Amino acid sequence: MGRSGTNQGGNVAGGHQLRLFNSLGRRMEDFTPSGEVTGMYSCGPTVYAFPHLGNMRPYVFADTLRRAFRWRDIPVRHVVNITDVGHAVADTDTGEDKLEVAAARERRSVQDIADFYTDVFFVDTAALNVLPADEYPRASAYVPQMIEFAAELEAKGWTYRLPSGLYFDTAKDPGYGELAQMDAEGQLEAARVEQVEGRRRKTDFALWRAEDPDQKRVMRWDSPWGWGAPGWHLECSVMSITLLGSHFDIHTGGVDHRELHHVNEIAQSQAYLGDGQPWVRYWLHNEYLQLGGEKMAKSAGGAPRLADLTEAGYHPLAYRLFLLGGHYRSQLGFTPEAVAAAQATLRRLVTRVQPLRPLPPIETLAAAQANVAGDPVAARLLDTIDAAIAADLSTPRVLATLQDALRDPDITPDGLRTVVAAADALLGLGLATLDPADLDHRRAVTELSAQERHAIEQLVADRTQARKERDWPRADQIRAELDELGVQLTDTPSGPSWQLR
Ligand SMILES: [Zn+2]
Repeated sequence: MGRSGTNQGGNVAGGHQLRLFNSLGRRMEDFTPSGEVTGMYSCGPTVYAFPHLGNMRPYVFADTLRRAFRWRDIPVRHVVNITDVGHAVADTDTGEDKLEVAAARERRSVQDIADFYTDVFFVDTAALNVLPADEYPRASAYVPQMIEFAAELEAKGWTYRLPSGLYFDTAKDPGYGELAQMDAEGQLEAARVEQVEGRRRKTDFALWRAEDPDQKRVMRWDSPWGWGAPGWHLECSVMSITLLGSHFDIHTGGVDHRELHHVNEIAQSQAYLGDGQPWVRYWLHNEYLQLGGEKMAKSAGGAPRLADLTEAGYHPLAYRLFLLGGHYRSQLGFTPEAVAAAQATLRRLVTRVQPLRPLPPIETLAAAQANVAGDPVAARLLDTIDAAIAADLSTPRVLATLQDALRDPDITPDGLRTVVAAADALLGLGLATLDPADLDHRRAVTELSAQERHAIEQLVADRTQARKERDWPRADQIRAELDELGVQLTDTPSGPSWQLR
């Protein structure tokens, strides 16, 4: 159980009770860790395409929670899965796998596609100052364990077989759907569940998707239910239980998972464990990012990605600040103007903080409190920051308190350094290191004249041609010319893309 002395139930002496909004029951609850190390699982990316801006919100949210735990000296083991198999197009139980469709579209192997987009995910999360997870398990590496898990459910009588695979029988689970808090009809409508022949109840879901003999899958495994692939929900139960133990404290994800994916994870995990205990204690969900009134959670063609923002002259951390300026359970409306405003705010913060550097290396409330013993103003501001983060991660209030501190005439310079370092340990905005020049609005591609743009595109095309002809010196020479023009080239599976530095 909890460590002695300063950390009882996540409470530091003088700190505020940490409270989190639990989707299970839809209420605010005190958070108390159940063990020495808090297990935390976040549903990760399906690595078949570039993640768009809305896809990144869950990881910034989970990172905020990680930072709040660190602040309260609560050790965490964080697992984020990489879905490289099993996720069908349209999140359904049948049909083609997202990875296989992408591989066919880009004429690359499934492995290449998965590796490429996994790297993109790591690049984007790193640019957003997201702390790395302890483990990033790949679904394709856990298929034998998934088969064992499904076989155990079958042995316990929770399943039935159809030609299209092995299905979980939700009628056998009286608590099914509790997390969604909807009747089955509403839940299915929200989740766009498709028709499957022979399925007893529309809520029943595939544990194993048997392949159509006339249409062999690229990624396929042998199983007691024939050749095929695991159902999408199975991987999260199997990998989290394998890496975090049967029960753990925190499961996070986007609110789009609350109605179906997480409902099914709970059903199969509790059936598998069979101990009558709730599988996971706290379910936390971030709200959508809205783009022009439409949610940005499901894959939507043309939704902007982080690289589009940097191409337009914005710093990735301006996007992070934009996200943290809203509460994670509020819908946020994305507009370029809002990110521009966030970048201007970040630039003002960095300009104001720069003369205070170096900031003390503070990550915890206890360390911050020890540093401000002689400064009542700083101590009060720290208390306000602690109260804000403890109240279900109110990052807007942490941000507001940081700005108050920077304006306060009565705070000592050392007290101010501590408050800034403490706020940034929670917000992750890079206040200790960013240069204001990093936040100057760079020239956007859209600001180029048609002529300039045409000249750059011609050079890019020439380089592609030179590479095709294996004329490497010529390709290198063109790359150097582009470099001099401030053009940064990235080679992607669908050809080179470029942006201005
Ligand atoms: Zn999941």
